[in-house]
Amino acid sequence: METEGVVLKSRDLGDKLRHLSVYTEKIGKLNLIVKLQSKEFPIKYEPFSVTRFKLQQKGEKWEVLESKLVEENFPRSRKEFIYRAKISKVLLPLDLPPGIRVYRLVKMYMRERGTPPTYAAFIMKLIFLEGLMPRLFKCVECGSREIAGFSVEKGGVVCRKCKEEKDLNWKRAVSKEVYLLTKEPLEELKKRKFRWLNLIETVAEKHLKFRSER
Ligand SMILES: [Zn+2]
Repeated sequence: METEGVVLKSRDLGDKLRHLSVYTEKIGKLNLIVKLQSKEFPIKYEPFSVTRFKLQQKGEKWEVLESKLVEENFPRSRKEFIYRAKISKVLLPLDLPPGIRVYRLVKMYMRERGTPPTYAAFIMKLIFLEGLMPRLFKCVECGSREIAGFSVEKGGVVCRKCKEEKDLNWKRAVSKEVYLLTKEPLEELKKRKFRWLNLIETVAEKHLKFRSER
C-alpha cells in the first residue's frame, strides 16, 4: 500500500526510532514507528512535512517499508510554526477516516504561512467538510432570527431569550464572517477584512472539539 501523508506530530523514542502521527490520504490518521537510517536526514519525518509512505499492514499496525519526502513545510518563522502547530493540534484528537477533500484541505493549508484569516478559514472549511456546520442565522432553539449568542452545546446561534449565561456573545455580523470563511476560496478571503477572527477561532475550536468527542 502506498499513500501520501501529512506528518502532524513526531516524537523521538531514542535508538533512532520515531513515533509519528500522520494523516494519510488513503488510510486516514495513523500512528507509525519509523527507524532512521544512519546518514538519513529526517525532514520527511518532521511535523508538517508531506511524505509518501510505502506501508505494510501487520495485524493492527502498519509498518513503513519506504518513505520519501514530497514537500517540507518546515516553518521559517515563529509565526509559521505557531500557525502549523495549531492545524496539527486541531487534527490530532479527531477521528479522521480517509477522505480526499479533507486531505487536500490539510495539505493545502499546511503550505500556508498563517496570515489571517488563514487559520480561521481552515478550521471553518474543516468543520464544513466534516458535516458539522453550526446553525448560523436562526436560533437553534426557537428559530428566531434575532441572534445574541452562540451555544457550543446546542451547536449554533441562539436568540436573547434562549441564550444561557455560559453562551458566548454573538451577532449576525459574526455569522456572516463565518459564512464567508466557509464558502470563499482563501485567495479571495485574504483580500477581505475580518473583525471577529479571534471569536470565530475560539468558537470553531470549541464547536469541533465538542462535536467530535461524542
Ligand atoms: Zn431562541
